[in-house]
Amino acid sequence: MRKHIVAGNWKMNLTFTEADELLDDLMSELEKVELPRDEKVIVCPPFTYIEMASDYANDSYFAVGAQNVSDKDKGAYTGEVSAAMLESCEIDYCIVGHSERRAYYGETDALVAAKVDQLLAHNLSPIVCVGEVLEEREAGRQLEVVKKQVEGGLFHLDAENIKKIVIAYEPVWAIGTGKTATPEQAQEIHAYIRSLLAAKYGQEVADDISILYGGSCKPSNAKELFACPDIDGGLIGGASLKAKDFMGIVTAF
Ligand code: PEP
Repeated sequence: MRKHIVAGNWKMNLTFTEADELLDDLMSELEKVELPRDEKVIVCPPFTYIEMASDYANDSYFAVGAQNVSDKDKGAYTGEVSAAMLESCEIDYCIVGHSERRAYYGETDALVAAKVDQLLAHNLSPIVCVGEVLEEREAGRQLEVVKKQVEGGLFHLDAENIKKIVIAYEPVWAIGTGKTATPEQAQEIHAYIRSLLAAKYGQEVADDISILYGGSCKPSNAKELFACPDIDGGLIGGASLKAKDFMGIVTAF
């Protein structure tokens, strides 16, 4: 059965001391609760704090993910970080194709596919983000947009590898705006993504893949969203920067 996942994407926030405080607070909160065995918590800090996060995670309370990876293997690519490097730091997950990377750094579906391949070759699970912008939703094109992103980023994989993927549906109009998709809007797209996976890989494979919702998810709306049959958790931006808020979402199942 697929996992329930709550992943925090810190983006480009926090100083060293602030990151240390947040991880400390998060550990104290996580120590107080017993999470269901099928739930996984993932923290995705900036590269600079990955080692610190891994020390806190201690293989038990949460897994650590990166926010980006190079599409190249190794070599003269100044400023890039490879999947092999992440693997050697024992990182388990990496976000790929976040809408901010698509919008500000020109990340295309082909680049997403290349990054996915790098991660899988180095035993990391990609968390692949898809989602439409406001104009696309207003034009009723959300299914078409999401289909293109899912197919372009993922459909070159075989059934064995697609099972290692986590998908995050993040309507861009809901990211950092305080405007959340309604549970009905989110469920519609999650069910659609699962139907695409089922058509390509079969229902059994599709049923094993976790599909997360992202976009202004908070403790006050997480329960409703996570109660939807095809929503398997959340990718959390702003609310992952405060331990209490993040825990309010972690405990929403
Ligand atoms: C995100 O950027 O992945 C995200 C979901 O951000 P926020 O929760 O702040 O909307």
